[in-house]
Amino acid sequence: MAYIEMKHSYKRYQVGDTEIVANRDVNFEIEKGELVIILGASGAGKSTVLNLLGGMDTNDEGDILIDGQNIADYNSHQLTDYRRNDVGFVFQFYNLVPNLTAKENVELASEIVKDAQDPVAALGLEKRLNNFPAQLSGGEQQRVSIARAVAKNPKILLCDEPTGALDYNTSKDILELIERVNQKYGNTVIMVTHNDAIKDMADIVIRLRDGAVRKSYRNEKKIPARELDW
Ligand code: ADP
Repeated sequence: MAYIEMKHSYKRYQVGDTEIVANRDVNFEIEKGELVIILGASGAGKSTVLNLLGGMDTNDEGDILIDGQNIADYNSHQLTDYRRNDVGFVFQFYNLVPNLTAKENVELASEIVKDAQDPVAALGLEKRLNNFPAQLSGGEQQRVSIARAVAKNPKILLCDEPTGALDYNTSKDILELIERVNQKYGNTVIMVTHNDAIKDMADIVIRLRDGAVRKSYRNEKKIPARELDW
């Protein structure tokens, strides 16, 4: 059994009289410690996959196995525990608590789990620790949000368009940081993007179209984030 398996997963939304199939028969397998990139145009179903993996939404059919547990069968209490202990999430717009400093934002996450770790030094954040989010650049805020996610020592780190609001150079810094987290802490990383160029840094590339997996492959020519170009 793979570390993460999505099997015949469907997610449907009812909008008025219309049924939208956001995910249709999605299947893939991910091994522990892999860096995975999910690609696809807007509306392809990427965020839906990420939200299902993160226990923030539930599917209508199919299995979602995480480290041997089928989270598709979890009740809301089990899902809360799962989100709290096993999942780190990085959002496009950082989602930091505005009236807490960078340090306090990270501590907020480590306080709610048993096996917290302190990633601040490793991620080069020491200088801005006492600043509030509004005093930080977008790239700095994203660094803090990555530290917050990693502080929980999560089994899986889910990143939804983490560079979507950043310029080219800052995007590459953030991608390098995500790569460093993956290598240093060994968390399984699953990152959603619509930027095709980013796929070259992944171990596994999953391409979605119209809610389904069109292509899924192991990247034999993985390159460091620093060497990406677009
Ligand atoms: P992506 O992340 O690739 O842009 P999403 O997973 O967000 O795609 O969405 C896939 C499809 O599901 C889209 O057609 C979107 O409009 C629809 N969808 C997503 N969330 C909802 C929702 N809460 N209600 C209705 N439709 C939704």
